[in-house]
Amino acid sequence: MDLLLFDIDGTLLRTRGAGREALDVAFLRVMGWPDATAGISLAGATDGGIVRGVAARFGVTWDIAVPPPFDVGAIRRVYLEALAGRLREPGRVAACPGVHALVASLAGRAHLSLLTGNWRAGAALKLGAIGLAEGWIAGAFGDDHTDRNCLVPFAVDRARAAGIAFRRVIVIGDTPADVACARAGGAYAVAVETGFSTPAELAGARPDLLLPDLDRGRAWIEALVA
Ligand SMILES: [Mg+2]
Repeated sequence: MDLLLFDIDGTLLRTRGAGREALDVAFLRVMGWPDATAGISLAGATDGGIVRGVAARFGVTWDIAVPPPFDVGAIRRVYLEALAGRLREPGRVAACPGVHALVASLAGRAHLSLLTGNWRAGAALKLGAIGLAEGWIAGAFGDDHTDRNCLVPFAVDRARAAGIAFRRVIVIGDTPADVACARAGGAYAVAVETGFSTPAELAGARPDLLLPDLDRGRAWIEALVA
């Protein structure tokens, strides 16, 4: 069976800005930085990478090899609390088309895992909001690295450590950054048009398979992992 690594935002679900709002709350409360993520693209980014980008906007930079010169743990705590509150708002979270049917259909046919720039706890909150918190094998998260292109090996190593044998690694995401991280990790790349990139941008990234959404794409993915 293949190992499928699903991105979360724009691929499995949409939160209608909840993530950005929660980050802004956290940076304002912890650092005093207003509208912290304004002008920063979150699509395909990692949470740690976003922290670096925001800090640079406010004149704070540091070497990648050393810890940040401020309390990222505090930012993460406030972010998670603000995110959880927003995810409880009616109509805030929506699963992308076909997600639940695809996950159900792939049970026993593929190993389902995650590759996301979300911090692990944020990923759990978001997936819980659409009733899909359970059933994933250990994946790769924003806690593992600030560079998405470094994430495939984390998911691969964790799957192997869990005793899972697999044929091929397939990354499924909604941005050119997902395709790039698949390439960097030697994985097959599936792109879906339900997120933050235009069909033309996705086509330009040359994924192996480009699908309008996971509903109309379900048969393609089922055939891919057969
Ligand atoms: Mg995404």
